[in-house]
Amino acid sequence: MARNLSFAGALVAAALAASCSDAGDSPAASASPRIYVFENGTINGLDPALFNFRREELAQVDFVNTAYLIAHPRGTLMFDAGAVPDSHFKGDGTPVVEGVVTATKPILPQLKEAGFEPGDVTYFALSHYHSDHTGNANAFASATWIVQKAERDYMFGDSPQGIIQPATYDALRNANTKILDNEDLDVFGDGSVVVMATPGHTPGHQVVAVKLAKRGAVVLAGDLYHYPEERTTGRVPTFESDPERSKVSRARIEKYLEDNDAELWIEHDIATHAALPKAPQYVD
Ligand SMILES: [Zn+2]
Repeated sequence: MARNLSFAGALVAAALAASCSDAGDSPAASASPRIYVFENGTINGLDPALFNFRREELAQVDFVNTAYLIAHPRGTLMFDAGAVPDSHFKGDGTPVVEGVVTATKPILPQLKEAGFEPGDVTYFALSHYHSDHTGNANAFASATWIVQKAERDYMFGDSPQGIIQPATYDALRNANTKILDNEDLDVFGDGSVVVMATPGHTPGHQVVAVKLAKRGAVVLAGDLYHYPEERTTGRVPTFESDPERSKVSRARIEKYLEDNDAELWIEHDIATHAALPKAPQYVD
C-alpha cells in the first residue's frame, strides 16, 4: 500500500463519433493507423486547488486512467501503461483501490483481447513518468522505448522525487531506447504517428499526434492538460516542473490542432473517453 499513499501524498506535497470496427480483424490487415483505448479506472477525490481551480469551476473533478495502443501497418506504439500494475489485481474481478486511484481493469488482458501481446509491441512511449501513467511500463521493456533525454535522466537519476514509482518502470533501463533531445519523432516514417516533445509538466513530457484515415487527426495529450477548463483559462497545475515551458508546449499543440483540424484527447478527461470505443474496438 506504500504505492497508494505515495501517489496521494505526492499530490498533496506538490500543492503545497468515433468510427470503430468490431474486434477480430488482423491488425496486419490495417492499411492505416488504429487507436485502441484501454481503461484502467479512475482517480477520485482530488483537490481542485492542486490544479489552480475551485470546485465550482470544473465540470468534473475526477479523472479517468487510460492507455493507448496505436497499430500501424509497420508496427505498434503503446502510449502509457495505466495507473496500477496488473499484478496488483487479485484476479477475482474486484477493483484495486490505492489511495485516490481505483483501478477497475488490468491493461494486459485488454491488450490481448485486441490481439496483441506485450512482446508484439514495437515501440513504447510514456507521456511522462508520473506513476498514474507508468503502471505496467515494465511489461513493454522488449519494445523500443521512445523517451526524451531530460525525462530519462530524471527517471534514472539518483533519487527521483514526487509522483513517481521507479519500480514500475525499472526494466526500461536496459530497453532498446530511442533518446530524443527535446525533439519530435515520426515513428513509422510516414508522418501518421508523431511523438511530439511537450516539456513542462515534467522535463520531457510527450504527446502523440496520429493521423487517422476516417476520423482525422488526433492528439493523445497525456497530461499536457488534465481538465478541459485548463484550455480556456490558461491555468496550469501547481506541480508543473516548469510552468512557463508548459505554456509554450500548450501553445505549440494548440497551433497543431488548429492547423490540422485535430481532436485533443486529454488522457484523464472522463467526457472525452466516455465517448470513445474501448478495446477491442478501435478508432481509425
Ligand atoms: Zn496523470
